Amino acid sequence: MIVILVGPPGSGKGTQAEFICKRFGIPQISTGDMLRAAKRAGTLDPKYLAIMDSGGLLPDEAILGLIERRLEEADTKAGFLLDGFPRTVPQADGLAALLATRGVALDAVVQLDVPRDLLEERLVNRRTDRKSGRIYHLVYNPPPADADLEHREDDKPATVARRQDAYEAQTAALLPYYDAKGLLRRVDGVGAAADITQRIERALGSVPASGEEKAT
Ligand code: ADP
Repeated sequence: MIVILVGPPGSGKGTQAEFICKRFGIPQISTGDMLRAAKRAGTLDPKYLAIMDSGGLLPDEAILGLIERRLEEADTKAGFLLDGFPRTVPQADGLAALLATRGVALDAVVQLDVPRDLLEERLVNRRTDRKSGRIYHLVYNPPPADADLEHREDDKPATVARRQDAYEAQTAALLPYYDAKGLLRRVDGVGAAADITQRIERALGSVPASGEEKAT
């Protein structure tokens, strides 16, 4: 199973990726998490750090190199979920080439659809627990008292707007790109996290439609 999760910043990719990966027993490959780990380790090129913290996109070649190395690891053999990659059409083309050389193919691209006015509120209230890596929302999904909370540098309001612009300018083009290949599954990303997980499972064909919501 090879799946891409695509959606604007704050659409819930990280939260949903965790559920989906557990459910299907596949690793989550998040370029954002990988870059933040490199930042913590002090191994991220300072010019990339500056781009990330200001809400821009890193060069496609840098990201493709990161993914190529990650796909060489043994845990990706039975499939994987990509979260935050690809983010541009050249990255999608690069991924297609990497998959082709491995003789594997994409199964689905799940689009988490959330209106822009809800996104900013989600991001500015988002916190991550440094210890567990879990994602919380200060109001809707409050962290436990003993959490060691981190507010992402790029979740500050001015930067959030720049990330939304980057999504609309560069990443949204992936929707028609994958739709033309018959791979796109649109999922409503508004509602409780558990309900959205169910919608994704249904979109991936692993859970029978429940009747109350028609499959689109
Ligand atoms: P989000 O929560 O906005 O989906 P991520 O955690 O996926 O953000 O990524 C954080 C930042 O890392 C991005 O704003 C960007 O600077 C950089 N980044 C992550 N993935 C990519 C990518 N595929 N291409 C270019 N830049 C990326």
